[in-house]
Formats: sequence, C-alpha cells, structure tokens
Amino acid sequence: MLIYGREIRDRLKNEIQQYAVNNKMSMSIVMVGDDPPSQVYVNGIVKFGRETGIKIDVLHLGADTEESQVLRFIKNLNEDPAIDGIMLQKPLPEHLDYNRLINEIAYHKDVEGVHNYNLGKLVSRQEGIQPSTPKAIIRIIKENGIEIEGKNVTIVGRSTIVGNPLSVMMTTENATVTLCHTRTKDLKKEILNADILVAALGRRNYITADMVREDTIIIDAGINFDDNGKMFGDVDEAAKEKAAIASAVPGGVGVITVAELFDNLKQICSLKNKSE
Ligand code: NAP
Repeated sequence: MLIYGREIRDRLKNEIQQYAVNNKMSMSIVMVGDDPPSQVYVNGIVKFGRETGIKIDVLHLGADTEESQVLRFIKNLNEDPAIDGIMLQKPLPEHLDYNRLINEIAYHKDVEGVHNYNLGKLVSRQEGIQPSTPKAIIRIIKENGIEIEGKNVTIVGRSTIVGNPLSVMMTTENATVTLCHTRTKDLKKEILNADILVAALGRRNYITADMVREDTIIIDAGINFDDNGKMFGDVDEAAKEKAAIASAVPGGVGVITVAELFDNLKQICSLKNKSE
C-alpha cells in the first residue's frame, strides 16, 4: 500500500497560515550555483511562503562565489532583525565548506536545524529546532498509525540533514537503529532485518524487491530525476509493491518536508515572541 503526504502537508499548512495572520514571519534562502533539483525545492518553498503569507527572499549567488562573500551575506542576514529564519541550500559548489558555513548562521535563525547548537540539542534530547526531513519522516510514520517503539529501523544514508539526525530521533522514539552508508558490508542483510526501512541515499531505484521483506514498511526519502526531469525515489516500484506499506515518490516525504521547514520557522518566531 502506498502512503502519501499531501493531507498532512495541507493540515500543517493551514496551521502555519493561521499563525502567520497575526505573526509576521520571514525567511531567507542562500543558494549558490545552479543545481536543478535545488531550484525545484526552493521554488516549492517560495510558493508555500506566498500561499501562507510568509515573506521568502532567495539570495541566488553565482557558482564561483568565494566563501568570504557567502560568509558576508550570512553575517548580514544574521544581523538583520527583519529576518527570522536562514537556510543554506545544499549542494554547494565544491570549493565551499557546507559544515563551516552552516555554523556561521545564527543558531536561533537556523530554520533547518542543522547548526551544531541544534544538533547538540537533538543528541542531548533537549527542545530545539529539528531538521525538517527527519521530522517529516517521523510524522508520516506516526500519522499512518505505525508504532516506532521497539522496531528495527534501518536507515540508508548518513548525511547531516537526513540520515544522521534521523538515527538520533529514531533512537529517542525507542527504535533499535542501524545506520548504513557506502562502507556498510552487507546492505541487503541490514535492510532484510528492518521492520522499517528509510531510504535516503540519493540513488535512483537502488533498493530492489529482493532486499525487502513482505512486512517491511518502506519510507522512501530519495528524490532523483532522470534526463527528462521525471522524479524517482531510492526504492524501486517492485520493492514497494512487495512491502506492506511504502511512501510514494513524488507525493510522500518530500511534500511534508517543506511544511516542516515552515513549522520550524513558526517555532523560531514563537520563541522570539516569548522572549520579547
Ligand atoms: P547525501 O548528502 O549525498 O548523502 C547520501 C548518503 O547516502 C551518504 O551517507 C552515503 O554514504 C549514502 N550512500 C550513497 N550511496 C550509497 C550506497 N550505494 N549504499 C549505501 N549508502 C549509500 O544525500 P542527502 O542530502 O542526505 O539526500 C539523500 C536523498 O534524500 C537524496 O535523494 C535527496 O534528494 C533526498 N532528500 C529528500 C528530502 C525530502 O524532503 N524528501 C530532503 C533532503 C534530501 P557515505 O556517507 O558513505 O558517502
């Protein structure tokens, strides 16, 4: 059975829109270079902002922009009281250090929850801003009535924005977590052991039917495009047909992620309002 994220997205969107009526919010996105999937994602954020009455500025810099210049832009956004949230879009051109730049964003404006301050809060189980894709993954699981506690959860992909924080959040949800990556010796064995599989590796249709059990729950976070611009997940159709439940691509985790980003912005603004 395929599960979708649109209903969850629409409910979150409605809550955000209502909050925005009385609370002015704004977010800036820093984008360097011309990665087509990033452009699609950023367009989706701008559209969501327009539809909910939230101001989104996109600072689109050329692929050859030097790190010192990117830092200067980030510093200006940090100091601008009219900007509540800042996001640095991945991937960056090779000469730019994502981990360095992300930690130059003021932690209280870190709308993606990827600053070391917020990741530290995540690990120490304190309230903070949580990365939006792992939040969307946990939400789509729970809202479909699936228990996480006690389950074997295998995550494929250990990036700072998806797999790694998700492994911490799943542990907090009392799952037993296996985190896989390119050096994992026997990926198929680890996936066959999963009650819940989360695919976040960025390889089109990489996970095939022979790698999943019939009772596996598949959450496919992958977003890959072919040469014609058609979107694919990381798990192929036959694997999804075999499994008990699988999230759709497109229309699954991805549509909720944007709403989670705005939910984070709402969290930042309500904290700011409380402290004023
Ligand atoms: P990333 O930074 O490129 O990380 C990919 C991870 O997958 C790495 O940890 C890598 O291992 C691992 N990996 C790659 N090939 C593998 C293989 N053959 N076997 C095992 N592990 C492998 O990617 P990301 O930014 O996390 O994104 C992952 C996917 O999620 C992409 O398709 C992206 O478009 C999608 N995504 C979706 C959303 C959403 O809202 N749904 C949001 C963000 C990203 P190593 O660490 O060993 O290199």
